[in-house]
Amino acid sequence: RPAERGDAEVAGSERILADDQEHVFRGWARQVGASSLAVVGAEGCWFWDHDGNRYLDFASQQVNMNLGHQHPRLVAAIREQAGRLCMVAPQFAVDVRGELARMIAERAPGDLDKVFFTNGGAEAVEHAVRMARLHTGRHKVLSCYRSYHGATAGALTLTGDPRRWPNEPGIPGVVHFFGPYPYRSPFHATDERQECERALAHLVEVVQLEGPGTVAAVLVETVVGTNGVLLPPDGYLAGLREICDQHGILLVCDEVMAGFGRVGEWFAVDAWGVTPDLIAFAKGVNSGYVPLGGVVVSRRVAGTFADRAYPGGLTYSGHPLACAAGVASIEVFEEDGVLDHVRRMGSEVVAPSLRAMADRHPSVGDVRGRGLMWALELVRDRGTREPLVPFNASGPAAEPMARVAAACRAEGVWPFVHMNRLHVVPPLVIREAELRRGLAAVDVALDVADSYYSGTP
Ligand code: PLP
Repeated sequence: RPAERGDAEVAGSERILADDQEHVFRGWARQVGASSLAVVGAEGCWFWDHDGNRYLDFASQQVNMNLGHQHPRLVAAIREQAGRLCMVAPQFAVDVRGELARMIAERAPGDLDKVFFTNGGAEAVEHAVRMARLHTGRHKVLSCYRSYHGATAGALTLTGDPRRWPNEPGIPGVVHFFGPYPYRSPFHATDERQECERALAHLVEVVQLEGPGTVAAVLVETVVGTNGVLLPPDGYLAGLREICDQHGILLVCDEVMAGFGRVGEWFAVDAWGVTPDLIAFAKGVNSGYVPLGGVVVSRRVAGTFADRAYPGGLTYSGHPLACAAGVASIEVFEEDGVLDHVRRMGSEVVAPSLRAMADRHPSVGDVRGRGLMWALELVRDRGTREPLVPFNASGPAAEPMARVAAACRAEGVWPFVHMNRLHVVPPLVIREAELRRGLAAVDVALDVADSYYSGTP
């Protein structure tokens, strides 16, 4: 019998889950037996399922909904735009698209003042790389291990984690290098300053051995997101800028996760005072209410295409509904003082409370973050830093982290968990009381992590 509208209400969550299980092909998941939740509503920092279970969204739906769920200003802007003009192809000018581009350019650092719109993060990275290659006339792109740049062919090849296609060659011209990671230093450094120096020296060597004249771009996540909330040590981004300038290489920063307020700045590079040539963005630009991403392009790079067509484009580039949500989002950020709120919540609530948890729970190996982008790295032994679950574990080997996540959910808090880390990445508009409630759930869940601890307390 074909499903009818309204069956969901009649049949309860079973119909929703059955349709999902039978007909939705899910990313990053096996297709049979992956458990799910029938989400039917959301507001602010909360979402709920068909059976009335409510969760505090401590993951912001893949670190995306910076203004939370169903923000009335964003919903109204989309409605208003839908009533007026739903779609105009990219070759035409339309008010909201130009307005959003101008608003982004006004907030971007240096001479980054043109915006190429995409539908999401991976496309933004793809186009940033294409622009860099066309601008320099070179083909290689250096990108970091422990990075995530998206799941299209190029973006996945650029990604420096095991999600790269296991049996596919990917796109040519991609070379990976190590970025700084003080807690698990690939350079055996003993402190952040040394880590920074050695990471830069390593890149200089990679550039030399690849041949500087072949390298179009160095691509980094300004703050590494999914792969660990790795903040660049002071001086690292400035060092990258210097190396790039010496060799005519473009610096491309992927701020799909870290941009638009996540670390308390419009663009994360602002926290380190560095201006890249291209910035890829998505997610927080309009909290994902309608898919939107893009590249902020420097005047210099945009100039390459002044009298030569840029060979690329997308039907939905700068979709009016997405741009309307973007304009409203930037207005809300400013009127409600969201950036100040993020800085205050990060430094006055999250930082001290996670550090206090690290004092109480031996399984917390490292605490790091900025603004409302934090990670706890969980270990079995602080001395050896053995992770709570092995790198890239799945199945039974990943069970301890699955239990930590389940303990959070049992407290009504939906966490972001990846490998041996629990990230604290709530919507940026979270109230202090909600934030404290979520952190209390993390505290409870850490008891589960402690139960696997085998090192010296
Ligand atoms: N770059 C970074 C840093 C990301 O975190 C992500 C997604 O999580 C992407 C790119 C890919 O974005 P999308 O999933 O919108 O293609």
